[in-house]
Amino acid sequence: MGKVISLANQKGGVGKTTTSVNLGASLAELGQKVLLIDADAQGNATSGTGIRKAEIEQDIYDVLVNDVPLKETIKTTERENFDIVPATIQLSGAEIELTSQMAREKRLYNAVNSVRDEYDYILIDCPPSLGLLTINAFTASDSILIPVQAEYYALEGLSQLMNTIKLVQKYFNRNLAIEGVLMTMLDARTNLGNQVVAEVQNYFKDKVYQTVIPRNVRLSEAPSHGKPIIDYDPKSKGAQTYLALAKEVLAANE
Ligand code: ADP
Ligand code: MG
Repeated sequence: MGKVISLANQKGGVGKTTTSVNLGASLAELGQKVLLIDADAQGNATSGTGIRKAEIEQDIYDVLVNDVPLKETIKTTERENFDIVPATIQLSGAEIELTSQMAREKRLYNAVNSVRDEYDYILIDCPPSLGLLTINAFTASDSILIPVQAEYYALEGLSQLMNTIKLVQKYFNRNLAIEGVLMTMLDARTNLGNQVVAEVQNYFKDKVYQTVIPRNVRLSEAPSHGKPIIDYDPKSKGAQTYLALAKEVLAANE
């Protein structure tokens, strides 16, 4: 049975999508069979793995709202063992349309269960909100990986995220755990970044990964080429650190 991990932080621009794509590709590089589910209407994980809009007939919206089997929406990427369920802008209507549906919090859970046996890891790239899509992702997940940008106000909003996790644990998914907290976009040349890392370690203790993702321009270029960093520039610092993160995640799940 595959492990299901949501990548979540309701703050935008903290590295959720970058981590989904690059942790996913790195786990695949290490021999794991990986499915990435794009749960953000922006579709950045979709385009970032090289899937073009024109080739998407059905996406995660159809799974959640129209009961299309998840399996029918899966696309392979250029990287072996790395598949994706795409998202398009039509997902932006899902929160409202789901409101009136039966078992609206469990729709992704049911869909993910239908393919769990076929993957080692299923990653869910969450939208920057704590709405019904994120609740669906948390209900479907074993754990949550929280990317935190190594910047001022890094901890801001995290108590709301923790509250949402507690609510989901109480009502929908008793076993939901914190997988880990990942510091992203660290500028090691400034003191600030390192101070923020220390502050987050103080709050989350040993939940914070040893691996810290540096600010690396190659990581921001890769999505426009539709490639994970490991295929765009395998020698870059970004590629090396995401591979190190994947090893840390694997070790923690042995
Ligand atoms: P989120 O999904 O949380 O909104 P993204 O992963 O899309 O965040 O990252 C926001 C922006 O920052 C994107 O343009 C992305 O390419 C860039 N970015 C993410 N991580 C890094 C990094 N380590 N170094 C440089 N740019 C990064
Ligand atoms: Mg994103």
